[in-house]
Order: sequence, then structure tokens, then C-alpha cells
Amino acid sequence: MDNFSKSLVHWHKNHGRHDLPWQCEPTPYHVWVSEIMLQQTQVGTVIPYYTRFIERFPNIQLLGNADIDEVLSCWAGLGYYARGRNLHRAAKIICDDFDGTLPSDKEKLLTLPGIGRSTAGAIMALAFKQHHAILDGNVKRVLCRFYAVNGWPGEPAVEKQLWQLAENLTPERNVAWYTQAIMDLGATICTRSKPQCDICPVSQECIARKQESQHKYPASKPKKIIPLRKTVFLLLENKKGEILFEKRPATGIWGGLWCFPECSADDDIEKWLLAKTGFSGSIIQKLSIIKHTLTHFRMEILPIHLKVKQCNNVKETSDQQWCLIDDALKFGTPTPVRNLLQAFPN
Ligand code: SF4
Repeated sequence: MDNFSKSLVHWHKNHGRHDLPWQCEPTPYHVWVSEIMLQQTQVGTVIPYYTRFIERFPNIQLLGNADIDEVLSCWAGLGYYARGRNLHRAAKIICDDFDGTLPSDKEKLLTLPGIGRSTAGAIMALAFKQHHAILDGNVKRVLCRFYAVNGWPGEPAVEKQLWQLAENLTPERNVAWYTQAIMDLGATICTRSKPQCDICPVSQECIARKQESQHKYPASKPKKIIPLRKTVFLLLENKKGEILFEKRPATGIWGGLWCFPECSADDDIEKWLLAKTGFSGSIIQKLSIIKHTLTHFRMEILPIHLKVKQCNNVKETSDQQWCLIDDALKFGTPTPVRNLLQAFPN
């Protein structure tokens, strides 16, 4: 619908966001990094991470050649770490297979790790000014309300319908402005809890507004019980005051990040310690339980501080290291580990 895109582009000229760091110099690399960081994360949170990341890795070659630990260290705190790992893997592939240049072809973009249909569409529209639709969370919300689309947008049938609408609405001309405009509308006007319909540029045609049913759209995800996982973080301190860290496997929760050794809440700590270190140790303190929620489960983490005199069974490897806390803060660590390190008495 031509009116929709024209109204949005016109509105964006005066009311959209024009000064975001990745907009100052919208190179394909900058757009790509920003789009990956913006997945599941708000603009205000992303800006400092994006700025630091681009300072450290100003181009694809430097990112592709970097050590994954350094990339994850820049990502630490932003969450959804698979995004950082995929960005790094994709940069390597771009260096090896695409002469170090992000491809300006949607099908090729889709072969890169971490780039799905909407992200590829955003890169094509924003960086290459080509006619491609996007359908991120903000756009889904706007379209669900504008057309009163029933059903949860994560359902394949609903998503298919939304893609069709998104493609119909995306204009041939001004595609970059339109794409930025619809993202901005969702982020600043058609917000989740209090849409500002009074100042919305497409309110005249919006079905949800006419029906005063904005709050019904988009439908919520059907509720499912998120399982609880209990675990124990062991802050194992040697006589030099160093703490033992282990790098997690590349896949799975917190893949590739550094964590404390972990045991089950049901394990006997003394036995675990003897098996791990070859020596008995002493529990100094049981710290307060940390609650942490991930996409598929909740965690209850009991951190226990232990001291050991000797650790003959613990050899330093690339995946297992003794480290002072100040040095460990430079590692890529998940948020609960980082919070514990920052609170830990030196
Ligand atoms: S009129 Fe209201 S509900 Fe409809 S698109 Fe605009 S802000 Fe969203």
C-alpha cells in the first residue's frame, strides 16, 4: 500500500532517528554489526557495545582475524552470545570466500552464520538500498496492529502472512528510509505497552486503532512452563589467591565463555573437590543464590567459595586456567560470572 510507505517516509524525515552511530557511516559492515546486535536488544543498550566493538574491530578483516575470546570479551554483557560467535565465524567466511567484502546478494548473505531472512533484508535495504522487506519484532507488532492480524507471530502460518504483508508494503523507492522508518515507528511510537496512536503517521488506516483493540495485538506466545535448573558455581581459590576458570564448549549455553567449574546441586562438594583436585579443601562461604533467566530455562545458581592448598589434578590448558580476578574480568564471561567477580572480595 503506497500511502503507508509514503506516510512513514514523510514522518521519518522529521521524527525518525537519524543520529544512531551506525547511521553516521552506513557501510555494509556497520549495518551488519548493528543489525546483529539489535536482535532481541534495544537501541539504548546496543549503542555503547556497538561503539566499543567498531573501535576494536573497525573492519571485517580485523574481526575475522581476531581471537574468539577477544570478540566474546567485547560482547560480554550483551547476551545471546551465539550472535557474537556467529558474527566472528561469518567474518572469517567473508575473508576466505568473499574477498573480505560483505556480499550484496541476499541469497549469499543467507548462507552466512547468524543472518536470517529479516537481517538479510535489512542489510540489503539499509546498506545496499535494494528492494527487500524486513520483519523484525518491531515490524511484526506494527503490522499485527495495522491489519489486526490474529495469532502469535511466531506461528509459521502467522509469520508467513506477515512476510506477505511486509513485502507488499515495502516500496521500490526510498527503501532504506522506509526500512528505517518502520523500525523507528515500532520502537518509538507503536510500542508494546503504550502505543502513541495520536501521533502515529498511519493511524487513519490502522484497524486496531479503529477498533480500539491495540492491546490485543500481537497475540502473546502461548504460555509454557520454563523449567528450572539448579547448579553450583565453585569459586576454587588456590594459595596464590587465583581462581580456577574453565572455558565452556563452543556450543550450548554460554558457549566459548569462561566460567567457574560447576557441579550439580546434588553433588557432595567435598567428594567433588577431592576428585577434581586430588586434595581436600575447605568451604569458606556459601554466597547468596543467583537467579538468572535464559530463553529456555531459569537458573538458580549457588556460588560456593572454596580454598585448596594444592591442586595436583588441575593442569593449566587452553580451556582451564588459574587466574587473578582482575585478569579474569578481561575474559569473555557470562553475566552471572561477571557479577560475581565484580562483587568478590579481593
Ligand atoms: S495507530 Fe497506534 S496501533 Fe496503529 S500502527 Fe499506529 S501506533 Fe500502532
